[in-house]
Amino acid sequence: MLNKTNGLEPGAKGQARPLFGLFPEELKSVLEGFGQKVYRATQISEAVYRQRVTSFDEMTTLPAALREELVTAGYTVGMPEIVQAARSVDGTERYLMRLADGETVETVWMPDGDGGERGDGSEASLEEEESEGLEGNVSEFKTAVKRDLRNVGALEQNGYRRATICISSQVGCAVNCQFCLTAKLGVKRNLTGGEIAGQVAAVLNRHGVKIGKDRINLVFMGMGEPFLNYEEFIRSVQLLVKQIGIPESRMTVSTSGIEPAIRRFAQEPIRPKLALSLNASNDEVREQVMPITRKWKIHQLLDAVNTLPLGKREWVTFEYVLLGGINDQPEHAREVLDLLKGMKAKVNLIVWNPGPGIAYTQPKPEDVAVFQKMLIDGGMPAYIRRPRGRDIYAACGQLKRTVELPEAAPLVGIAPAANPPG
Ligand code: SF4
Repeated sequence: MLNKTNGLEPGAKGQARPLFGLFPEELKSVLEGFGQKVYRATQISEAVYRQRVTSFDEMTTLPAALREELVTAGYTVGMPEIVQAARSVDGTERYLMRLADGETVETVWMPDGDGGERGDGSEASLEEEESEGLEGNVSEFKTAVKRDLRNVGALEQNGYRRATICISSQVGCAVNCQFCLTAKLGVKRNLTGGEIAGQVAAVLNRHGVKIGKDRINLVFMGMGEPFLNYEEFIRSVQLLVKQIGIPESRMTVSTSGIEPAIRRFAQEPIRPKLALSLNASNDEVREQVMPITRKWKIHQLLDAVNTLPLGKREWVTFEYVLLGGINDQPEHAREVLDLLKGMKAKVNLIVWNPGPGIAYTQPKPEDVAVFQKMLIDGGMPAYIRRPRGRDIYAACGQLKRTVELPEAAPLVGIAPAANPPG
């Protein structure tokens, strides 16, 4: 199949060579290999990242002969494909994404966010909303005057203020958190930066999202541990920021706590906000629920987190999955307060989402309320994250490849996009 390489190595064992995932300078060297002028690279970059095309046929700025040459050489556009979709009663959608080698991961779309704007890692829009709140009606009036209805994005046309996309970084996960369905898969492979960023592009296409008009938040909180796939995770961030146009201030990455990677992350010039999955108030409990704690203790993680140069309106989020009778009692809340004392932090409380084969119980609502109140009374902002898409196994810790879910999961096939891509 790869009978023409133009001086470039063919993809290993005939693997596809996706264009999605290459930076403009890399595209330039590909095009030079075909004896093409460098502006062709800009055209491809524009088509792949801004127009978000999914086939060579749509790259109408390229001559047909060049498109053919690229195909013959094994190149593909390379955006992951949504092969299944399930829609929750709350509007959340969970997608099964097929990658070039046939592996699959899951991606979740949460219109109107996931409560994160007030609580979880996706608090990116907090700044704007807080400043709107200060001015009250005056601000609303100004916004209404400014708004040109012909110029709003697909989200607003559909009555949403924002959406959050939760993306995966690995096929499966190796971390083995005891409360998580994804852990049951083990890890099959890392995703490339293009495959991570490509999930976002596929979802944006499905919903006709207009970058620059619609307010999109991203959370790296799907399948996998991004910090165990560090290079490609960072590559995806750069693609999303520089090529697709989503600012890093609207992104949050969640880690189970890979200490050396947190320190490295703190040095990155372009980086999302950080959320650490704490899930316990002491090492003993954390080792039970997150065996990775045997390697890095809580105090080591907090030391690493404290190296992060926080922006003026930036907080570190600590995620805390509440497991009935395990980590949800007042003594645990007191320990959390002690741990986080003096940090510019907030806590997201996540009521554990049940999954088949996982032997935890949900916390009692009154215990959740007491836990939150104790944190707040102790001076630590604490939010209860609204569970999204629980009925379709799209909620936190529930991502497992759709094909393996019980038949009860309401798969709805591939529905048409809400709006044509903009
Ligand atoms: S919670 Fe995250 S890090 Fe832990 S097993 Fe699940 S996907 Fe992996």
